[in-house]
Amino acid sequence: MGRIYNFSAGPAVLPEEVLKEAAEEMLDYKGTGMSVMEMSHRSKAFEEIIQEAEKDLRELMNIPDNYKVLFVQGGASQQFAAVPMNLMKNKVADYIVTGQWAKKAYLEACLYGKANIIASSADKTFSYIPDCSDLPVSEDADYVYICENNTIYGTKFKTLPNTKGKPLVADVSSCILSEPVDVTKYGVMFAGAQKNIGPAGVVIVIIREDLITEDTLPGTPTMLKYKIHADNNSLYNTPPAYGIYICGKVFKWVKKMGGLEVMKKRNEEKAKILYDFLDESKLFKGTVAKEDRSLMNVPFITGSDELDAKFIKEAKAAGFENLKGHRTVGGMRASIYNAMPIDGVKALVEFMKKFEDENL
Ligand code: PMP
Repeated sequence: MGRIYNFSAGPAVLPEEVLKEAAEEMLDYKGTGMSVMEMSHRSKAFEEIIQEAEKDLRELMNIPDNYKVLFVQGGASQQFAAVPMNLMKNKVADYIVTGQWAKKAYLEACLYGKANIIASSADKTFSYIPDCSDLPVSEDADYVYICENNTIYGTKFKTLPNTKGKPLVADVSSCILSEPVDVTKYGVMFAGAQKNIGPAGVVIVIIREDLITEDTLPGTPTMLKYKIHADNNSLYNTPPAYGIYICGKVFKWVKKMGGLEVMKKRNEEKAKILYDFLDESKLFKGTVAKEDRSLMNVPFITGSDELDAKFIKEAKAAGFENLKGHRTVGGMRASIYNAMPIDGVKALVEFMKKFEDENL
């Protein structure tokens, strides 16, 4: 049985090379006589794995020395609580709500302090990114929060908001490593690994050192304190060791591909194939403002629920998996993360053309 083209929004396609290498090392990792899954997280072999993963990520993203890289657990959703618990010194934070994940983060922050929605695109079902050049940022805000790439709706901030000097906190779960970023523009970035990086179960937090303090909200669980993870080099407790090992392999793969500049070019090329087709198609159409289109998640519709269902069914039979849109919005969505080969996108567009001819 061959591999199919997997357009899942996450957990998502991983580079085949990485999977093959992991398979080869499954029973005996580099002469240790055991799998990484069976290995103590305090062993020399694992220490090297986690240190090298961090080193490669730092190199790829050009992460300055005054930022810590943490490997934690609990999914990106746990960061929705960890962020306010660690950062809300004044108990005030401003949220820009551009989709369901940002909204969930906002609602979580409301449990801990005064969270304000200072901009939102809810009025047009999150199909665009609001102008964030001059927002009413609260004077005493501890941070301004965004979800940089909206996995469900397929929009992406092309310009970061003007936070008027407040630290920017960004959920970058579905855009991390897709293109170069200037880490110094962020106070905190976090990402669930299961889209562009590796298996579910690992979350990466990149945080400026001055934001890591003992002064967390009363009742903050030890496991949610950034300082605990920073002071213990992500080894306070047993980390998601096997997942980190796969993340490390993906970092090496991205480096081998040429790094984030090359990833960006490749992702732009892939996305263009799909968006150009959507723009000229008589059957399919994209659902978001052109200038805010994501390179990673491409939602589209036919305009008919029956045709959408027929398309998803026939696409699946033809080897294109997971094209169904998020359960809350319907339609279709092709997630084309770093590991989706350009041939996968070309084949999908060919299939869409054929479907269009047969169903117009
Ligand atoms: N943020 C974004 C942007 C997402 O796409 C998702 C969904 N994977 C989440 C947060 C929630 O992630 P998790 O399931 O890891 O909690």
